[in-house]
Amino acid sequence: MSLIKESIRDLHKRVIQKEITAQDLADASLNCIQEMDGKLGAFLQVDEEGVRERARALDESGVADRPLAAVPMGIKDNISTRGVLTTAGSRILGDYTPIYDAVVIEKLNDAGANMMGKTNMDEFGMGSSNENSGFHPVRNPWNPDRVPGGSSGGSAAAVASGQVTFALGSDTGGSIRQPAAFCGVVGLKPTYGRVSRFGLIAFASSLDQIGPLTRNVEDAAMVLSTIAGHDPKDSTSAKVDVPDYLASLTGEIRGLKVAVPRELMGEGIDAGVKQRVQEALKRLEGLGATVEEVSLPHAEYAVATYYLLAPAEASSNLARYDGVRYGVRVEGDNLLDMFHRTRSTGFGDEVKRRIMLGTYALSSGYYDAYYRKAQQVRTLIRQDFESIFQTYDVVVGPTAPTTAFPMGEKVDDPLTMYLNDICTIPVSLAGLPAISVPCGLSDGLPVGLQIVGKPFDESGVLRVAHAFEQHSERLPEPQAGGGVS
Ligand code: GLN
Repeated sequence: MSLIKESIRDLHKRVIQKEITAQDLADASLNCIQEMDGKLGAFLQVDEEGVRERARALDESGVADRPLAAVPMGIKDNISTRGVLTTAGSRILGDYTPIYDAVVIEKLNDAGANMMGKTNMDEFGMGSSNENSGFHPVRNPWNPDRVPGGSSGGSAAAVASGQVTFALGSDTGGSIRQPAAFCGVVGLKPTYGRVSRFGLIAFASSLDQIGPLTRNVEDAAMVLSTIAGHDPKDSTSAKVDVPDYLASLTGEIRGLKVAVPRELMGEGIDAGVKQRVQEALKRLEGLGATVEEVSLPHAEYAVATYYLLAPAEASSNLARYDGVRYGVRVEGDNLLDMFHRTRSTGFGDEVKRRIMLGTYALSSGYYDAYYRKAQQVRTLIRQDFESIFQTYDVVVGPTAPTTAFPMGEKVDDPLTMYLNDICTIPVSLAGLPAISVPCGLSDGLPVGLQIVGKPFDESGVLRVAHAFEQHSERLPEPQAGGGVS
């Protein structure tokens, strides 16, 4: 097995025992990226010089007390990295090099991880297929004619193909979980407020969260342990203690109460996906859980609600890209003309669509009918989950209604694209923690099982995912990236 595909725990042990060095790991990862990047396009920037410098420093200083000892990671390109281009997948930020690190980057650096580069994404996080990148699309390592999912498609593809051991993504309406499902890896969206967003380029601030994409559940617990916690620099980060996530991986789920919303297992969900999820539920039952059907009565309004709220927040967040405060400026005849040219040239079609939708929803006369109404429905959706969690420990269902779809299939049909988020969006609106864990293949493509927990119960979510993983067959390795195994 390639070095990069080993678990963080094994890599840590081998580095500590001086069996391998940080430089070996850096070389293995860089070689793999070099071999695969032309085929998959998972990276926007590879920081070769920085990688080698950090590896040398790690080898010199020793890494014994650093839990992510020299582990190669990829960072979604909307997370600020000092001295390394950070574009958020947008041409308007094509020349933006932050002068500071996001808090999650500081924490990962302290833990000894080594960032190989910045991973490709849908522009500003807007998309479910990575076809909305302002630079180039990403291909799915299981089949290069399929999308990797989005918006953290580069992170998911890079982990699935073994270019890095783990990656960070961000999730606003599903952008960690859905690409994790499509690429056959683990993706964890923490509770809203669990992880600092200081240094994350904002899309929809009432929803955005940073989280890990990994090859197994234990790695997700390790990365979450490193990045979680209150941050005084992010006023939305919560003052809630961070438990020992590794300690929650007991393999034990006897007596667990699992709720399965019938709305997420009904119409619109592919038969193959449904079948794998049903088998997964049986497996949970086999481990001593009880599984019951429940209802999320307002789930049918979730996609419409999200596509009002997220664009409204985006239209406000993206106002700063005007060629003066931020953004590659395109000169014009006068100030207005400069704004016009800058934003017309810098933003892609989907981003423009969202800005228009959001501005419309917020405009006077429409505010009550759209934005306020959407906020009210959001509360109802949150309450649906609250009432389920009075009786049940976790909510389980598919992560996405389909497996990875063909490239080009939905890109000209935004509504169909938006509907692919139907399983993840209700969870995002409720701000809950959720993980996607592989639960087999359908027609040769991975299916994701979504496990949703109570607020701040990442431990519970990880415990269930880990127990499930321990009793599931590992997926084979995807071969489309060149078949490094
Ligand atoms: N696909 C959803 C969207 O386009 C979610 C994206 C995300 O979570 N960043 O808005």
